[in-house]
Amino acid sequence: MLSILRNLVQEVNSARDLQEALDIIVSRVQKAMGTEVCSVYLLDPATNRYILMATEGLYRKAVGQVSLAYSEGLVGLVGAREEPINLEDAPSHPRYRYFPETGEERFRSFLGVPIIHHRRVLGVLVVQQRESSRCFDEGEEAFLVTVSAQLAGVIAHSEATGAISGLSLTGEEARDISFNGVPGAPGVAIGTGVVVYPAADLDVVPEKPTDDIDLELGLFAEAVTAVREDIERVANRLASQLRPEEQALFDVYLRMLGDDAMPGEVANKIREGYWAQGALKQVVQQYIRHFEMMDDHYLQERAVDIRDLGRRLLSHLQEGEQKDQVYPERTVLVSEELTPAMLGEVPKGQLIGLVSVKGSSNSHVAILARAMGVPTVMGLVDIPVNQLDGRDLVVDGFEGQIFASPSDELRAYYQEICDEEDELIKGLEVLRDKPCETTDGHRVSLLVNTGLMTDVVRSLNHGAEGIGLYRTEVPFMIKDRFPSEQEQREYYREQLEAFAPSPVTMRTLDIGGDKALTYFPIEEENPFLGWRGIRVTLDHPEIFLVQVRAMLKASEGLNNLQIMLPMISNISEVEESLHLIYRVYHEVREEGYEIHMPKVGVMVEIPAAVYQIRELADRVDFLSVGSNDLTQYLLAVDRNNPRVAQLYHSYHPAVLQALVRIAHDAHSVGKPVGICGELAGDPGGALLLMAMGYDSLSMNAASLPKVKSVIRSVSREWASQLLEDVLLLDSPHVIKSCVDLALRNAGFGRYLRPGRTTPVALVQQAAS
Ligand code: PEP
Ligand code: MG
Repeated sequence: MLSILRNLVQEVNSARDLQEALDIIVSRVQKAMGTEVCSVYLLDPATNRYILMATEGLYRKAVGQVSLAYSEGLVGLVGAREEPINLEDAPSHPRYRYFPETGEERFRSFLGVPIIHHRRVLGVLVVQQRESSRCFDEGEEAFLVTVSAQLAGVIAHSEATGAISGLSLTGEEARDISFNGVPGAPGVAIGTGVVVYPAADLDVVPEKPTDDIDLELGLFAEAVTAVREDIERVANRLASQLRPEEQALFDVYLRMLGDDAMPGEVANKIREGYWAQGALKQVVQQYIRHFEMMDDHYLQERAVDIRDLGRRLLSHLQEGEQKDQVYPERTVLVSEELTPAMLGEVPKGQLIGLVSVKGSSNSHVAILARAMGVPTVMGLVDIPVNQLDGRDLVVDGFEGQIFASPSDELRAYYQEICDEEDELIKGLEVLRDKPCETTDGHRVSLLVNTGLMTDVVRSLNHGAEGIGLYRTEVPFMIKDRFPSEQEQREYYREQLEAFAPSPVTMRTLDIGGDKALTYFPIEEENPFLGWRGIRVTLDHPEIFLVQVRAMLKASEGLNNLQIMLPMISNISEVEESLHLIYRVYHEVREEGYEIHMPKVGVMVEIPAAVYQIRELADRVDFLSVGSNDLTQYLLAVDRNNPRVAQLYHSYHPAVLQALVRIAHDAHSVGKPVGICGELAGDPGGALLLMAMGYDSLSMNAASLPKVKSVIRSVSREWASQLLEDVLLLDSPHVIKSCVDLALRNAGFGRYLRPGRTTPVALVQQAAS
């Protein structure tokens, strides 16, 4: 059974469109179960009706013609109940509905299972049988449920692909095609999609047409020659070290690159009108599927060789291509997985929006996007990435939604939101040099989180009082090797100088989790619980010492450096780090630098640290809460995983209780405590944190004016009452609503996500 399923999923996965996917499903399932009929009905979001989309056994002419209202017939019943229905004599069921077009009067037994993806019923998969004596047994029911669960994601994806290519299920032309993800960075962008993909990854190459077949043929021929030469070079170099049977492998590779083998097929595809990379992808994937489906283990393994060859050819093709990637004026970058390096490729001023399949609102690339003020939607798991290249897109970073091929009406609607937001931000400029103080005189420091130099410029414009978190891994991430001490010193000096004499808190390298360095890969099963932050740098003192030395030298004459340690879960990590920092401090002074010992603090972002605040505070000068990780670890919700994004809630009562406790315990031993997680930049969150007594709030530059204007308009007493009220509540959603209501009543409704609903007509047209 497992191998039938595996083959089915593979075949469906490689179908070119939704119709082909559905046809494969019905034919394979019918055969595997030995039934007379297998059909798929999909729920059309535009009409809210189930449409017969594919069948094996009913009359083919009924496909696309027969449809049932949402709760009509047995199909509607399966969808409404969201569970299988297995009947021996379907026509005698009160909900049975007869369609003469299908010829189904001949069939008596019925088994229908819902196709559900992310809690949404997409359709119903049905098998039918002529004799009533043949009731589908438990094993068959379980098989169909398994097929349906496995295929739901593929169907959702193909459905989206179909929608994007301009057709709804009913075949009408679609505009305003919407896809839902999670908000990454607030704001709205209206621009053109540019699909970017990690180098040499065949799976994500878009299948674009070409108008210059000769050019593509030439590029491909050059790539084949280059790869052939590479292989010959390696074979010659290793000739003396390999046994003849190992040498033979290179011959196999070279044979595969012969004109009458794979390259010939790719060239034919190019002649059909595909660009070289897309043609290569299609041919290689075909080969891989073919090999993987073979029962012979040796032949299955050959799929790896083909994949490798494909990757080599692609990387040569991309070498030529990268130089001439053109970015339109209003670029919306779209990718399976965005990386900071991709953002850096877009010429200045042209990047207006970001769309990512992977990741969630607390992924680091989303944090970076917020810092840069670029509207972003993450976790769009079902978008057909490859088809968004060159398309008009609207990115709604408030709601976590994108629209492809927007109508004039939708564009105008979103343009108005953009204009309102610009106006709001302009209106806040007057607060720039005003203190962040409540109406009853309580002061809070508003600091910024930075990573790039652009953040610094924006922060100064918004009146930040210092840097509460400089993520030093950002400059590390945009290089292709560890930056040298001198290079680091230059990055750090820029940040320190820009804010002097205000404090600049530099966090030591926090890599691991979702922050990868291409040149220092960390492969782990469970990276967020693995080798991250201080754990890496204490194991690699050569990295830690160089970084601290660069920081200290950069601070000469400015004396505004503070050093912060990430991911602390043990007192011993603090002690070891302090020992290394002191050592470097003395060495740098001995070298003749006029520096002062910086303040050192720790991040509180692991639950264990919450229970050792006093012990930690005794050893350092300050504490700073990393609420992004603290939320993830307290709630056991991966901050990067869109599937559980709705469970990631910084207003969760457990998170709020932890935050109260941290502030209380730090102050009880006389140490200042700040917060540098995203909660600090949320106007409602900032009010609660101010009421808890946090001394400083560090956030992305774009949020700072809004937070300042909210805090300046309320009294601490009012905020303390709000905090007291919400601490009595037990649901994150109720707490959030309660805080939103308080903000609305205080006149800050506009600071929440725009409360307008997209015009109903527009949403209804949307295919997802
Ligand atoms: C945090 O965890 O809240 C934090 C500020 O650090 P980062 O988001 O970089 O992990
Ligand atoms: Mg963190």
